[in-house]
Amino acid sequence: MKDAVLAFLKEAQGYGSGEEISQKLGVTRAAIWKAIKKLQAEGYEIESSTKKGYKLIKVPNIITPNEVGEHLNTDYFGKSIYYKAEMDSTNNKAKELAREGAKEGTLVIADCQTGGKGRLGRSWESPAGTGIWMSLILRPKILPQYASQLTLIAGLGMCEAIQEVTGLEAKIKWPNDIVVNGRKVCGILTEMHAEMEGINYIVVGIGVNVNMQIFPDDLPHATSLLLEGGQEYSRKAIIQSFLKKFEVDYNQYKQIPSLESMRARYEKQCITLHRKIKLLKKVEGSVTEVVAQAIGITNEGALKVRYEDQTMEEVVSGEVSVRGLYDYV
Ligand code: ADP
Repeated sequence: MKDAVLAFLKEAQGYGSGEEISQKLGVTRAAIWKAIKKLQAEGYEIESSTKKGYKLIKVPNIITPNEVGEHLNTDYFGKSIYYKAEMDSTNNKAKELAREGAKEGTLVIADCQTGGKGRLGRSWESPAGTGIWMSLILRPKILPQYASQLTLIAGLGMCEAIQEVTGLEAKIKWPNDIVVNGRKVCGILTEMHAEMEGINYIVVGIGVNVNMQIFPDDLPHATSLLLEGGQEYSRKAIIQSFLKKFEVDYNQYKQIPSLESMRARYEKQCITLHRKIKLLKKVEGSVTEVVAQAIGITNEGALKVRYEDQTMEEVVSGEVSVRGLYDYV
């Protein structure tokens, strides 16, 4: 009912009287009034006048299925959306839905996460109303060893989506963090469930700091698009742009699980390349630091590095964290 009333108001140019809406939708005026109250609680600004009826004044910056699904021009990414205002972690919910048989392309969105996760059990700050906390369910018929490439492809899609929507110079910090002006605006956590025969499902979890004004003191490397761009951005526009770009690349990748056709695009966006970096490796509980020159990306998504003793290595994501020589990137 709520969705039907919203659709009516979005289509109406101006006021729609209670009488008109109730006739069109075949429900009582009381039911319409109730739906209007619910929409207002979600943040829609709706003017109501006893004479003229209802008019939609402003659509809020929210990422409910209704808003994200509107004008979404994908084939199957995000065509089914599971949304809740609050969740512990969208990856946990996506894994649960995947186990229950959710279709490829199903998207889980939360307005706020109470237990958001980063890599290696680290936590991810996910306050309400300002970020994008979402997880996409994929079921590629590929061997498990190719799955880590998908994280890079998702990072590429999100980097290009942020650039398109905000005009900001977003860059990829290998393998899949997105930074603006040297600070982190997006992190990606991919989780996989595989059996002997192959991959059962993959969940690509993505967090984007869109409109936060402030971060806790213990996150000195975090920033938001608003803090860098000086204005508020549409969360749904970023999600829609990302889903479209990622779907195109994912379809390509399903045919040939290699980064080859996207590598030039990835390298163009990758800020880690052609720099001296520090590789942080966790060995038996303690972290060792090695300085290296980042040279390139392989078709498998590894980072080619040259150490100071001139030996070369292809570093696989998941094994290390990358830092700049003096700063975060
Ligand atoms: P790393 O970049 O060290 O590999 P992860 O990708 O695993 O880290 O992300 C988790 C880390 O990101 C946390 O330990 C925390 O320092 C930081 N973090 C947590 N929440 C946010 C956020 N909303 N934005 C940016 N960084 C965050």
